[in-house]
Amino acid sequence: MHKIIFIIILLFCWSTSYSQSTTKPQVLIITTGGTIASKTNAPSIEGHDLIQAVPELSNYATIEVDEFVNIGSSKMTPLLWLQLVKHIRDALNSNPEIKSIVITHGTDTMEETAFFLNLTHQSKVPIVLVGSMRSSNEVSADGPANLINAVRVGISPEAIGKGVMVVMNDNISAGRDLLKMNNRRVDAFPSTDLGFIGFCDPEKVTFYRSPIKPHTSESEFHIYNLDSLPKVDIVQDFAGFDSKILTYFTNRYNQGLVISSFAGGRLSNGFSEIYNLPATHKPIVISSSIKGGRIMGSNPEGTPIIIANDLPSNKARILLMLSLTITSKINEIQDYFNKY
Ligand code: ASP
Repeated sequence: MHKIIFIIILLFCWSTSYSQSTTKPQVLIITTGGTIASKTNAPSIEGHDLIQAVPELSNYATIEVDEFVNIGSSKMTPLLWLQLVKHIRDALNSNPEIKSIVITHGTDTMEETAFFLNLTHQSKVPIVLVGSMRSSNEVSADGPANLINAVRVGISPEAIGKGVMVVMNDNISAGRDLLKMNNRRVDAFPSTDLGFIGFCDPEKVTFYRSPIKPHTSESEFHIYNLDSLPKVDIVQDFAGFDSKILTYFTNRYNQGLVISSFAGGRLSNGFSEIYNLPATHKPIVISSSIKGGRIMGSNPEGTPIIIANDLPSNKARILLMLSLTITSKINEIQDYFNKY
């Protein structure tokens, strides 16, 4: 009798460990459109079809697909970002077994969506954004390999705590640092000053670095209860800039302004009046249009000016929007720009 009971227990333990070892991690793929879901001279691909076209995905994970939107990412908006981060929270609340979220996205605003989610996704569950530079029906389309790599990165135990990541062309970038630097090439996202955090090789995903700037569950930006985000505009400086343009942007309805300046934060004479504005004026962030290095120095006391450090204008806009959900005090906002 004891022998039979012992054999039953043994069988039970074996079957449990066997099912655990063979049960693949659950990955939710949220599709949003972009070139990865497009076909040249044909309508774009619906989310489920996009994923079904890459059956190899199920070698790595149990895949659930959810089509959030199907747009060219140049049509992405702050409202869609807000709805997306809530959508992700709801998905994780309804299925705590999800080990990772992969988001297929167009490359035009991929760096902005990644930066936004990196500051607002209040969870350690890894998010990996992925796209492609070639449409799905082009020769050597890069979408399928990028998608498989994104899932492999998302389920990698080392991905936990790395913040939002982006996988393109076998490279893993930190969501904060990504920059699109080419309009067409498959390596449109080269490593920035800060370098890739890891790589996807055929047999192994390897991480070499972790972002140190706070992100995801370490971030102070809790926005799940908001229905909209503060409005922030970007103005590009240029030689001979007309100050009337600045007057238009400072007078129009927005809660803040980002100036895309010359290197080092230098501005044309058309902007000189901002140095005479009081600190009670809506915040004006100076961000360099040069995609390398940071603006040195600190923000001039008693003015509404904030220095964006190494953030380009599109990301500085997002950080200002999020900062304004908490405060409109200039020095407190500058602290966020020094911290994030
Ligand atoms: N038009 C595309 C987009 O949605 C470009 C791409 O995905 O590569 O951003």
